[in-house]
Amino acid sequence: MTLSIVIPLYNEEENIHILYEKLKASLDLLKMEYEILFVDDGSTDRTLSILEEIQSKDKSVVVLSLRRNFGQTAAFAAGFDFARGDVIVTMDGDLQNDPADIPKLLELIKDHDLVSGWRKKRKDPFFTRRLPSIAANWLISNVTGVKLHDYGCSLKAYRRDVIKNLKLYGEMHRFIPAVASWYGVRVGEVETVHYPRLRGKSKYGISRTIKVVLDLITVKFLQSFSTKPIQFFGPVGMISGFLGFLISLYLSIDKLFFGRDIGGRPLLLLGALLIIVGIQLIGMGLLGEMLVRVYHESQRKPIYVIKKVLGPETK
Ligand code: UDP
Ligand code: MG
Repeated sequence: MTLSIVIPLYNEEENIHILYEKLKASLDLLKMEYEILFVDDGSTDRTLSILEEIQSKDKSVVVLSLRRNFGQTAAFAAGFDFARGDVIVTMDGDLQNDPADIPKLLELIKDHDLVSGWRKKRKDPFFTRRLPSIAANWLISNVTGVKLHDYGCSLKAYRRDVIKNLKLYGEMHRFIPAVASWYGVRVGEVETVHYPRLRGKSKYGISRTIKVVLDLITVKFLQSFSTKPIQFFGPVGMISGFLGFLISLYLSIDKLFFGRDIGGRPLLLLGALLIIVGIQLIGMGLLGEMLVRVYHESQRKPIYVIKKVLGPETK
């Protein structure tokens, strides 16, 4: 088994040396072949030059430098694309995770495909970080049905095939366990230590919570309806259209048989609106269906994931 460590870094000049030393100490104990991929996410401080210096002395280090700041998810994705190990471990570059926890994750990855760290005693500010994260974790667990205590923990281990089958967008890295588990991936969790950030600044604040909630909606939608959008939009559209039809019918009867004037009645507006919305929603569902087909067929992306094929070689 070989190991790749992926670490995104954005303006972490004060942390890199210590991180590198701690990481080396832990990895050398493992007696495994490994590589360390430092991803410089468009840092504007000395991060890149420090990394280059480390790389020039240590051939187990790979440095990827992104042209600008693309965000942590993109930095992870870059690391994944270049990682060559059978198992890929991710962690933060600000020393809030401890490389000494890596063996724990590797122990569990033997009978799992993905192992997530759990910062049980998280050392971040309460109101801006821990409280929103409690709410977010509860929400994500319930909406995605994947029960983890701590989605936001960067310290995670993945089997190679899990990560290579995944496409990451936006701020999605925290949803990898949820997305992966729909593919039938076995997800495990292990308690890890967490330290306060001693050097450099945190790149996130409370505004991140909103992004996480929006991403959650996307993830939930994709999980439930990505291959059948008409099943999502269709029923809502039909209910809306049907209600609109009933209202219009009632108004028509009123006008035709009882001769009452319906021109100024708010109900008329509502009826017309519901019919239009209904038609629009069904139209959106159909458009969605076309998109799904274009998406899967243009990329030859199957709607299933195969674990193994047994039998005579097919080629
Ligand atoms: N990071 C990054 N790109 C960004 C923001 C953050 O690569 O745009 C890195 C950062 O350098 C650190 C990790 O992601 O290694 C976690 O960031 P941070 O410590 O700021 O997040 P927090 O621990 O406060 O959630
Ligand atoms: Mg941090």
